[in-house]
Amino acid sequence: MLTELTAVELASRIAKRELGCVEVTEAFLDRIDSLDSKLGCFLSVTRTEATEQAQFAQTLVDEGKGGPLTGVPIALKDNLSTDGIETTCASKILKGYVPPFDATVVSKLKQAGLPILGKANLDEFAMGTSTENSAFQVTRNPWDLARSPGGSSGGSAAAVAADLAPLSLGSDTGGSVRQPAALCGVVGFKPTYGRCSRYGLIAFGSSLDQIGPFGKTVEDVAVLSEAITGHDPMDGTSLKHSPILSADLKSGSLKGLKVALPKELFGDGTDPGVAAQIQAAIDVLAKEGAEFTEVSLPSVKFGVTTYYIIAPAEASSNLARFDGVRFGPRSDGKGHIGVVERTRSEGFGHEVKTRIMIGTYALSAGYYDAYYVRAQRVRAMMQQEFNRTFREFDVVLSPTSPVPAFKLGELHEDPMALKLLDYCTIPANMGGMPGISLNCGFTEGLPVGLQLMTAPLQDEKLLQIAFCVEQALPTATRRPSFS
Ligand code: GLN
Repeated sequence: MLTELTAVELASRIAKRELGCVEVTEAFLDRIDSLDSKLGCFLSVTRTEATEQAQFAQTLVDEGKGGPLTGVPIALKDNLSTDGIETTCASKILKGYVPPFDATVVSKLKQAGLPILGKANLDEFAMGTSTENSAFQVTRNPWDLARSPGGSSGGSAAAVAADLAPLSLGSDTGGSVRQPAALCGVVGFKPTYGRCSRYGLIAFGSSLDQIGPFGKTVEDVAVLSEAITGHDPMDGTSLKHSPILSADLKSGSLKGLKVALPKELFGDGTDPGVAAQIQAAIDVLAKEGAEFTEVSLPSVKFGVTTYYIIAPAEASSNLARFDGVRFGPRSDGKGHIGVVERTRSEGFGHEVKTRIMIGTYALSAGYYDAYYVRAQRVRAMMQQEFNRTFREFDVVLSPTSPVPAFKLGELHEDPMALKLLDYCTIPANMGGMPGISLNCGFTEGLPVGLQLMTAPLQDEKLLQIAFCVEQALPTATRRPSFS
């Protein structure tokens, strides 16, 4: 089936005129129409625009101006601004908000001829780990419809896993690309902080946020990374670096690859099924010549507590702009303060309100030093520990998520348990380094994600290592039988 092909396969068939761009886009739109009512990946489907964009892609192909992904459709997390298309962050406070501009990644995709299928579900403002914090709908895991796809980019991950989209974009502040990728059995990549412009990504934690791609293979994710990265003067944190180059991915040996295994990332909370699959993967990679050494990164233990000061602090400031005056619906109230108060209390969901309160508290006079400044110190320590590790090792390996996909509702009432699931992914955001999750096996029929991280700016090296690791792990490309 056409919808089962990888993005690179689709692009090559399109370039050879074996497939037409409109035909490909329509195949995915039709699959969304027939199956998404069961999965709930999409908050909106943009059939008319996607078809027009596919026609444009076909003219690029016909005129010989096509690029490596021309004609390959994509789904976007609904916190990426899309000109003329509703962008809600899965929050009532942005219901009906239609941005007058495209995020930089979106304009890059449009220029490169990738039709946009629609906007994918997420935890409200990307705050969450299960996509259950969406104000609008539940998203289900294609491997087991009773389970969560992970989050916050759950819609983007599940859409790729269920062949509703060959590619998608998410955002990763504390793991929101890598964790749902792991739980859905697809590849998810968070580039180095600053390599992908965040202009038009609705901000959550600005010192942590990074846009990242989902795909079925490392190669797909690498090619999409090249399309979306590069310097952008519209984002003050954008690095003056060239796009992440994908052309160099080569099948190669893992011989002599120096891999660090931080003992803190293989701790007590790890599900035995996950631990067994990660160990099996390590054994396979060791046979291929990779060299593993246990290391200690003590500050990793403080990652979750530190993150849950820094991210809410930044969120409380970023979310101050949603006042009912400029964006989205406005509630009635007495005077300006009354309007703002009512709009915010009716518009934000429980998790978002909690974080705004925690963040405001952590930043307030008298508590700033005790919480925020201290958290920043721990963050700096963690960065130093990782930098030291990367002077000796090529890559750090760990589980992506300590547990496989959990049942919907199972953890929703236990916010602490949900937050602990970010344990393995938070360090990459704290240190700004790139991280990737790829499937390494299954436990009780559920995918297990393996995480790899390198030093900041070694995105190409990380993708190359992941490419070789993927080739060594035979289960990496199994798909759910969902239909
Ligand atoms: N689960 C984390 C949180 O709730 C990370 C979210 C993200 O990366 N956007 O904040």
